[in-house]
Amino acid sequence: MSAFIVERGTQGFLAGKKENKLGMRASETAEIIFDHCRIHKDQLLGKEGEGFVQAMKVLDGGRISIAALSLGIAKGAYEAALRYAQERHQFGQPIARFQGISFKLADMATRIEAAELLTRQAADFKDRGLKMTRESAMAKYYASEVCVQVANDAVQIHGGYGYTKDFPVEKFYRDAKLCTIGEGTSEIQKLVISREILRS
Ligand SMILES: Cc1cc2nc3c(=O)[nH]c(=O)nc-3n(C[C@H](O)[C@H](O)[C@H](O)COP(=O)(O)OP(=O)(O)OC[C@H]3O[C@@H](n4cnc5c(N)ncnc54)[C@H](O)[C@@H]3O)c2cc1C
Repeated sequence: MSAFIVERGTQGFLAGKKENKLGMRASETAEIIFDHCRIHKDQLLGKEGEGFVQAMKVLDGGRISIAALSLGIAKGAYEAALRYAQERHQFGQPIARFQGISFKLADMATRIEAAELLTRQAADFKDRGLKMTRESAMAKYYASEVCVQVANDAVQIHGGYGYTKDFPVEKFYRDAKLCTIGEGTSEIQKLVISREILRS
């Protein structure tokens, strides 16, 4: 497997349909189609036969980006929920005073901090030029699952308003799900992590 640079406009290289997505709608995603596309050998990227290794290296770094993206969404959802829980009154008191809500906030805050530590660890390994296949997969897996849990809890804390577009948590909820899929699903992260653990 080898990697190539294919310029837009090359015969046989076409953009397909734009996907109609659940979330992340400000970032366009489209198919790319190769149909009898012939390219010159000068368009080879790196060395012949190294495409798979290159892709895996790119994914190691890319996974830290998705972990950071997950953290951003989770923090946004958590901060909105924290604010709302203190503003919204039911039964004569802010809903944050109900243990059912305050314990959710405690779980959200704890998970976010743990996800941030894993993400910073993976980024530190990358900055120091160390191998970080295991660290980046752990950060991406954990932060993305936290992101989905936190966004879900944030909608729940907002009650009916959480299901409307008047509050930001509805968007966080839709955007969050991409994080457990893109740059390798959670199942694939577990595959990578378990391989790394069993190798040592
Ligand atoms: C919005 C968006 C943007 C994207 N952008 C890009 C991009 O820019 N570039 C790019 O290259 N790709 C991109 N992707 C593709 C993305 O990386 C893949 O969708 C993702 O890696 C999952 O692959 P798949 O869709 O083929 O799922 P599949 O591999 O078909 O997986 C389906 C299900 O089976 C599970 N599964 C598959 N294999 C195993 C296994 N061995 N063990 C256990 N479970 C398994 C998966 O975890 C998943 O739950 C994008 C996807 C989305 C949604």
